[in-house]
Amino acid sequence: MKITIVFDNCPDKRGLRTGWGFSSLIEVGNAPPLLFDTGADGDSLLDNMKQLHIDPKQIGAIVISHAHGDHTGGLSSILEINEDAEIYVPASTVTRLPGRKVIMVSQPIQISESVFSTGELKGIEQSLAIKTGKGVLVVAGCSHPGVGTILDAACRYGKVYGIIGGLHGFHDFDLLDGLSLICPCHCTQHKKELRRLFPGQYISCGAGLELEL
Ligand SMILES: [Zn+2]
Ligand SMILES: [Zn+2]
Repeated sequence: MKITIVFDNCPDKRGLRTGWGFSSLIEVGNAPPLLFDTGADGDSLLDNMKQLHIDPKQIGAIVISHAHGDHTGGLSSILEINEDAEIYVPASTVTRLPGRKVIMVSQPIQISESVFSTGELKGIEQSLAIKTGKGVLVVAGCSHPGVGTILDAACRYGKVYGIIGGLHGFHDFDLLDGLSLICPCHCTQHKKELRRLFPGQYISCGAGLELEL
């Protein structure tokens, strides 16, 4: 599987547009690409996609972690271009997208062969659990339900290999012991501490980062 950071607060080497928000593209096997979150604004999202050679029309599913503008800002722009993608939003979200298939997620569900939603946790946010040959990769938007809650929900799909995404104010660092990949993005407040504690596992996040597992 491959995950590409399409939108993030921080830059990577490529010089893509940045801003406060998060979006990533997930490609697993032969399944159509899945977009997890849509960043803060459509122009930046689409421009970054162009530079990354991602065709928005090919996206088969769009998963929104939670209904904050820094994760939903680019949604309407994508939907103008892509009329077919299935859309997964947390059940508490008030969503009106006439004519579109919107799946309101409350319980854990399977999205594609290897990709699962944790279900909406603490009434606010869903994360992804992706089965890979190395274990489960967790992808989180902002981690508002708490990283511990998310990891607990994800481990039903197997041993968690790593976590990537926004970790917000997370500081129960012991919870990450045993993970092989820690890639804090977006709103993570304690990146320096995480890098210091997990030098072998830490990967710097930024718009344009591509990780293959
Ligand atoms: Zn956020
Ligand atoms: Zn948020």
